[in-house]
Amino acid sequence: MQFSEFPFHKSILKAVAEERYHTPTLVQEQAIPKVLAKKNVIVSAQTGTGKTAAFALPIIQILFDKQGLKEEEGKEIKSLIVTPTRELAIQILENFKTYSKYTNLTTAAVFGGVSLEPQKDILAHGVDILIATPGRLIDLYLQGFIDLSAIKIFVLDEADLMLDMGFITDVKKIERLCPKKKQTLLFSATIPEKIDDLAKTMLKKSVKIEINPEETTAKNIGQLLYYLPKKNKTDLCLDLLRNTINGKIIIFRRTKIGVDKLEQTLLKNDYDVVSIHGDKSQAIRNKAIEDFRNKKATILIATDVAARGIDITNVDAIINFDIPNIPETYVHRIGRTGRAGKSGIAFSFCSPDENSYIKTIEALIEKTIKIIVDHPYIINKPKHKKLQPNTVSKNKKGRKSEASKKNKKRWY
Ligand code: AMP
Repeated sequence: MQFSEFPFHKSILKAVAEERYHTPTLVQEQAIPKVLAKKNVIVSAQTGTGKTAAFALPIIQILFDKQGLKEEEGKEIKSLIVTPTRELAIQILENFKTYSKYTNLTTAAVFGGVSLEPQKDILAHGVDILIATPGRLIDLYLQGFIDLSAIKIFVLDEADLMLDMGFITDVKKIERLCPKKKQTLLFSATIPEKIDDLAKTMLKKSVKIEINPEETTAKNIGQLLYYLPKKNKTDLCLDLLRNTINGKIIIFRRTKIGVDKLEQTLLKNDYDVVSIHGDKSQAIRNKAIEDFRNKKATILIATDVAARGIDITNVDAIINFDIPNIPETYVHRIGRTGRAGKSGIAFSFCSPDENSYIKTIEALIEKTIKIIVDHPYIINKPKHKKLQPNTVSKNKKGRKSEASKKNKKRWY
């Protein structure tokens, strides 16, 4: 199927063609007709599947149908997209702006961590489509800068992350501030029970679309598991960076302190590294993502929440420096690589306190992750494999010694 087969106005098709989207992705093929038919839709699909366009394009079409190319006086918010993080809000805004550039529809995003004033100014001019994080939206609403009484399409994006971040009460509040009669779309990477319950209360007579995240991520991603003591994780990380992994790498850590510590170590070892986590200012986080996108930095260290949903293509490898305690998080993390049919590789470092997380991850992905036994820091050594000595040199500039080059292949 081609995009031109959707009943989109030519202004939308022109913008899509400029983005070089020819064939719709699976989620777009399934969701767009339902959204255009004004159905309530629950979609389980991860970022990277093209889900933003799956809701943005039909929303633009529906609003465009009402408004055409005419400038409207006193614009009111007709579509509200609620998303959990600032990065996602910015990304969705960019998508809407791109797809609607040949229409007169206006889009804005409001999110916390930055000054309220510029956001108030934008809202005062009137927007058709508003993208918002829950806290800032409620804040601006209570101050009287947001009127949700004309909402026709309400989108809840990354619902499971909303749940993880404790936003569900806010989301319910926001939904109640919108008119009862509206179209609601719920997007979530996974649909745990609590999200299913939320969907039942918020979306009446809904259509369900499921794009299996495990299938989409696991197919072309090599997954390798290293059992080792916690104290050796930094050594293993440096060894892999020197001898095994090439290209663009995202390293995931569970805590902000962990991100900062590892960043300092990698900087000392002359790596081009940037990092993102919740304690960093929006400007610094944006700059880090930009530097990583355009390859000024080859390594991005991130916490899960900060990295969730960020669209960075061509990531060659993922390092799970800490094993996530929520199995779905593992799927999200490794889904950052191996996108759009490309291959990718995910390295996971498991210390003894994290052993039980591996079991739950393997149960979710329905496969066993390949254990690497041939590395210098191994513990829980399986009986049939021989332990290799650490012959990897750690020279200061991160250059490979002859011994380490020889070792390179053995680690797979
Ligand atoms: P998303 O899952 O919405 O974050 O989208 C992931 C990436 O896929 C973004 O960079 C989009 O610009 C891109 N994308 C979305 N739909 C298509 C498509 N039909 N063809 C090619 N790229 C697409």
